[in-house]
Amino acid sequence: MSRHPSPATDYIAALYATQDALLDDIDKMLKSQNIAMHVSANEGKLLQVLAAMHGAQTIVEIGTLAGYSTIWMARALTGDGHIYTLNKDARHIAMAKESFARFEAPGRITMLEGDARDSLEKLAQDSEFKKRPLDMVFIDADKISYPAYLDWAEQHVRRGGLIVADNTFLFGSVWQESPPEGIAPTTWKGMRSFNERLADQGRYRSVMIPTTEGLSVAIKLF
Ligand code: SAH
Ligand code: MG
Repeated sequence: MSRHPSPATDYIAALYATQDALLDDIDKMLKSQNIAMHVSANEGKLLQVLAAMHGAQTIVEIGTLAGYSTIWMARALTGDGHIYTLNKDARHIAMAKESFARFEAPGRITMLEGDARDSLEKLAQDSEFKKRPLDMVFIDADKISYPAYLDWAEQHVRRGGLIVADNTFLFGSVWQESPPEGIAPTTWKGMRSFNERLADQGRYRSVMIPTTEGLSVAIKLF
């Protein structure tokens, strides 16, 4: 949505997805560095509404960047609700630390640094994490690893929990007959199988929202 603003998305954002100073500063900082990997304000608000609708109290986000989407979702948490967010790039980690230091409830956010596959393994062993059901996973990191992230989510998200994933159109390539130039065949095949797995109506109640990038939303039925 952010890549192709329209009168409709602008209207909705101005009315329903207004950014406070913190979100506005992160958005501006990223734009000033020509980084456009974060979700749009409307998508951030959608993630927040989904989390709130589901009463999500434990969320795992794979792919933090500067914490823009993290903060949208963290604002759906109440009480001792917690969001774990996974980040690899040193520059992104530094930016996210600044964002989270300004967040009104910093104790609700834990950033795990390093490769997400390692962090997910560690998280699964963490005694605090293990105490409570996992209500929601938001996948928004390296596209080649989406099938592996889904494996983890299928194992750890509670029955009835939510699996949400961004960029599932794989930059407009996922419906093509073969991977276009610039998209690695393994990544393309992986994303197609990721979408097919979530489309299995015996296992998920799911939908793909046709945002610019494609946003998959699935309730895990098993
Ligand atoms: N969810 C963010 C945007 C994430 S951009 C938002 O909407 O605001 C993707 C992020 O995933 C980047 O910060 C990148 O460093 C991180 N990332 C990519 N591959 C990763 C990996 N293997 N492990 C952990 N983080 C990874
Ligand atoms: Mg994304």
